[in-house]
Parts: sequence; C-alpha cells; structure tokens
Amino acid sequence: MAKKYIPEPFRIKMVETIKVLTREERKQKIKEANYNLFSLRGEDVYIDLLTDSGTNAMSDVQWAGVMRGDEAYAGGRSYFRLVEAGQDIFGYEYIQPVHQGRAAEKVLFNLLVGSGKFAISNMFFDTTRAHVELAGARAIDCVVKEALDPSLRAPFKGNMDVEKLESLIKDHGKENVGLVVMTITNNSAGGQPVSVQNMREVSAVCKKYGIPLCIDAARFAENAFFVKRDEEEFKNSSIKEITKEMFSYADMFTMSAKKDAIVNMGGLIGIKDNEELYQRVKENCISFEGFITYGGLSGRDLEALAIGLYEGMDEQYLEYRNGQMEYLASILDDEGIAYQSPVGGHGLFIDAKAMFPQIPYYEFPGQALGIELYKEAGIRACDIGSYMLGNDPDTGKQLEADFEFTRLAIPRRVYTQAHFDIMAEALIAIKKRASEVSGYRITWEPKVLRHFTAKLEPIEK
Ligand SMILES: *Cc1c(COP(=O)(O)O)cnc(C)c1O
Repeated sequence: MAKKYIPEPFRIKMVETIKVLTREERKQKIKEANYNLFSLRGEDVYIDLLTDSGTNAMSDVQWAGVMRGDEAYAGGRSYFRLVEAGQDIFGYEYIQPVHQGRAAEKVLFNLLVGSGKFAISNMFFDTTRAHVELAGARAIDCVVKEALDPSLRAPFKGNMDVEKLESLIKDHGKENVGLVVMTITNNSAGGQPVSVQNMREVSAVCKKYGIPLCIDAARFAENAFFVKRDEEEFKNSSIKEITKEMFSYADMFTMSAKKDAIVNMGGLIGIKDNEELYQRVKENCISFEGFITYGGLSGRDLEALAIGLYEGMDEQYLEYRNGQMEYLASILDDEGIAYQSPVGGHGLFIDAKAMFPQIPYYEFPGQALGIELYKEAGIRACDIGSYMLGNDPDTGKQLEADFEFTRLAIPRRVYTQAHFDIMAEALIAIKKRASEVSGYRITWEPKVLRHFTAKLEPIEK
C-alpha cells in the first residue's frame, strides 16, 4: 500500500510554467542531445530531477532577505548575520562564506593534505575527491559494507567502517593521513545517513592518532532528521540540538549550501577553534573567492543563506520532504522496483541493474533508465554508475561501478504529489517493457568527468 503523502507545510505564492513535449518531440530532443541528459535544454524537461543542488525554491522570507542584502564590499551587515547564524547552529567560532561547496574544498584542503598524503572518508563526493587529489593526496573510501547492498534495509548505511578506518591509518602511517572526512548524508551511497554514535567513534579514532576530522556537511539537516527518527538517544532532541551534537565531534566543515540551506548558490567553511587555520583559510579565500566578508557571493546571497540554514532545519518541513521520498518508495515496493533502500535523504536511487539484467555495466544500465524516463514522461534523472565512473586512468578500460543507479534527486519545495505520481507511473510503465530496452555505447568522450559532455548512441539489437 502506498504510504500517505505528507502534505506541504507551505502554500504556493508564485509559479513557474513547465511544458510537456509530446513523446515524439522528446525522442527527437534526446537524440539531438546525443543521449546525454546534461545536453538537454532545461525547457525541454517536464520534471527535472537531475540534481537537488541549487534547484530549491526559496521562501517569501528568503526573498525578502534578498532585498535587504547589504552589498558593501567589506563588513556588510549580511555577512555578520550569516556568521552569527553559523556560530549559533554549528557551535563553531569561525564561519567563512564561499561561492559553493567545491570552493570550500579548494580553499581548505590544500592547507591539510599535500603530495604523498592520504585522506579517508566514509565516501568522497566527486568534487571532494577531486580537490583532495588536486592537492596531491590520495582519497580512500571507507564506508560500511551494508552500503554496498541496495536491497538491505539497514539504518545508517552511510556510516564509516571504523575498524577499517583504524587499520587504514595504521597501514599508511598516521603521519601520512592528513584528513578524515565524514560526508553527511553519504551522497554517493544514496543519501544514506551517518549516526551520531558512528561520529563519536570516528572522532575518537581521529583524536587517538591526531588527525583532523572534517564534516562534508551538504545535507546536515537531513542527516539530523534521520538521527532523530532512528537513533533512540535522540528521539526527543530538536534538529538544532542534534546538529550541534554532530558538529561537536569534528574540527571543521565544508558545506555546499545549495542543498540543505535551500539556496540556489552558496557554500561555507566552518572552523571550530583553530585560529591559525582560520587565518590561512582567510588568505586562500581572498585569493580564490574574494574578500572574506563576501567570499564570492553577493550580499543578498549571504542574507538568503543565513535564513535558509534555519528553514532547512524546520522539523515539519523535513518530515514533509522525507515523506515525499517515502511515498514514492512505497509505490515502488508494491511494484517490485528495486532501489537503494531504505530510501535516502535527497532522492531515490533506482537499481537499474535489477531493472535491466540484460544490459551489462559497459552498456550503462543507469544511463539507459535515465533516457527511458525522459522518453516516457519528460523526467530528467541521472546515471550514478559505470557511465559516471568512467575509465581506468592507467589502462583506459571502462571501470565497473559498485552500483548501477539512476538517481531521481528531489529539489526542495518544488514538486507536488501529482508530480510524484507521474514519476511512479513512468517507472511502472518502463518496468513493463524493461526486457525491450537496450544499452548505449559512447561515440565521443573527453578525458575527465566525461558524463557531463560525452556523446552516446543506442545499441540496436
Ligand atoms: C554537492 C556536494 C558537494 C559540492 O558542492 P557544490 O556546491 O556542488 O560545489 C560536496 N559534497 C557533497 C556531499 C555534495 O553533495
């Protein structure tokens, strides 16, 4: 039985028209886009689930904040408002705005890791991994093994494997591990949460070996929601209290504010109390992003971000948001459509390998399902599988990913129950004709991050 859809804790004040093309038009558009979903024009998409990053709807209060933004180059009021919000929520002394998450990584990571060093995470997000590697270090994933089985319904599948973490530190030598990163929620594992207990244990290991612990905090509020729901100790705590508790175990954080802070652009760095590190962050920020009191953002962006940090922690909103995912997931359960379960914080990761057993990883089942969703209903999703992973840099051979997912990332406060029904109907229709769907081959690809721009064609069987 489908779960009850939890109604929106808001009403609609402004609308944005979206158009539905005909099935024939969509077939033509995706062909013209060389079967790359990133090459479609946004206006040719009906329901856009490519990402939940920067695609959120701001509130009336945030838009009012936009008008109040202080555009002073130095010392603007909006900067101080944001710093106060960050200090209040996270309990860190130093808060530095930057233009987005990867900017935070670029500013911070080269101060902590360099060539020959290692950084270990429950799972690195792709830009986070890239910035560790651009700093000359190697990035190692260390997620619990439950994460690798999409059908296993375990809580906190985003956790770090603490035993493995300790053995990795011993193997590489503690002096060579410059950084441990906790990604909350664990994006690459399907938005799976990390428990506070796991953070405590990871923090203890880091302290034992003198290694700094950084939170990759893009979805901190969704993580706190799962902690409240599933971790007994916190069932009577507020989201804000849980947030403060989570951050108390780390030394610093980087954040893409384009997710849980419900803005279209923005990022943050937080440093708990290391003044010397903050000094160096400020220096990097001035070179890469702009003066410290705007960090590559407009005053109006700082103002909207300060407000969004609080709105993202609203419990009714988080229940409604999680309810959307649970609603869709419950329909998929009824229909026997497999996904990374339990459902994650920011979207559904459909198991395309299970949907299309006839398509091998090197013909990209996750991409094939993404294209079918577009043809079926004008829905744009994206591949999180071998197509995204790419080739081995040494041999040039296609790598096989742990998962072949098609991700339906859900923008915040944007789509309604009727849109979710369309997503469910499209997946059900595709499952009915799944055996007729074939894979894709790449006809052109760039050397790095190929999935954004590669060209593909269907393999006719
Ligand atoms: C989105 C994201 C980033 C990068 O942030 P951008 O704002 O896209 O640069 C880093 N880590 C995680 C976990 C993310 O989800």
